[in-house]
Amino acid sequence: MKSLQVRFAKRPTGEPTAETFDIGEVELPALADGQILVRIIWLTLDPYMRGRMDDKRSYAQPQGIGEVMQGGTVGQVVESRNPKFAEGDFVLGMFGWQSHVVSDGTGVRRLDPAVAPLSTWVGVMGMPGLTAYVGLLDVGEMKAGDTVVVSAASGAVGSVVGQLARIKGAKRVVGVAGAEEKCRFVVDELGFDACVSHRSPSLRDDLKKACPDGVDIYFENVGGATLEAALSLMNPFGRIPVCGMISMYNTGPSTEGPDRLPGLMRRILTDRLKIQGFIVSDRAAQHQKAFIEEVGAYIRDGRIKYRETVTEGLENAPRAFIGLLRGENFGKQLVKVSEDPTRG
Ligand code: NDP
Repeated sequence: MKSLQVRFAKRPTGEPTAETFDIGEVELPALADGQILVRIIWLTLDPYMRGRMDDKRSYAQPQGIGEVMQGGTVGQVVESRNPKFAEGDFVLGMFGWQSHVVSDGTGVRRLDPAVAPLSTWVGVMGMPGLTAYVGLLDVGEMKAGDTVVVSAASGAVGSVVGQLARIKGAKRVVGVAGAEEKCRFVVDELGFDACVSHRSPSLRDDLKKACPDGVDIYFENVGGATLEAALSLMNPFGRIPVCGMISMYNTGPSTEGPDRLPGLMRRILTDRLKIQGFIVSDRAAQHQKAFIEEVGAYIRDGRIKYRETVTEGLENAPRAFIGLLRGENFGKQLVKVSEDPTRG
């Protein structure tokens, strides 16, 4: 049995390119006792993968050169010599950017496709959905009556943040996104009250108009100009769950306007704002069960909608990943590595 793999070839400076990756086939060993052979169906592409390409100290080890690109996957067991898994089982695991894998089952979870579509276990029902849940409710301490602003609003995390805020009784839910089409989607389809574009030269004024009573929670996904605009509109005792800063992932921290930041940071003191970084895995165990029950029910009853961008074929994963960092995805970016037998 052969596996097609996308490996990490070269650390990028700035935006990743085709040279960042290397694609090739390897022969997989025959199964030993306790092992399973998994065919990957869905691979999720996530912004954190760019961070791991840099050889810098972070909460996770950098991606090693020559290694298979890391990533969350949903697959199907093709052969099993492990009593915990049967042939045909659907599984969730961090198997990375490859078509097949031999695993001893450690960290692998069996999935019931009747509970939710397979692809959602790496999207709205998986890590990005949980990030939204934890970030908004636990870190952000959201209360009914809050005005909630979220950036990267049409994306995997942002779309769930806004919809959850709505369900939890936010006074106003405002998104920030790039394209006009994405803004329309979050208002018309997801039920946000408003959405402004971070490409607008009048971003701060647009956001101010969209939040006439100020901002109680700014769920931070992008950094840069959006953070600056949102910071200046925060209400006393506002909260800023700092989830991500995608605008800086390719370029590093901005050196623009060195004098502006201290002034804005002072407001954190004067308005007693809480800005807290968090990593979903720190709080996953505590919230996982409630999240699956609650968000699973919202998806089934249609109160939470989700959108996916599906790229066909593992060989196209590098291009899709480069596009994700440019905002070319619309909703959860997935790669369909092989057929999903549960989809019509
Ligand atoms: P998305 O599905 O939202 O995709 C990324 C989006 O980011 C793009 O579509 C684009 O949307 C936006 N974007 C890209 N470049 C820029 C830019 N320069 N300025 C503003 N927006 C930009 O990704 P996710 O929902 O998976 O992730 C959202 C954020 O959450 C990321 O920062 C990610 O790192 C973070 N995250 C953090 C976790 C944690 O544990 N702390 C866990 C999971 C995610 P648009 O076209 O609207 O600009």
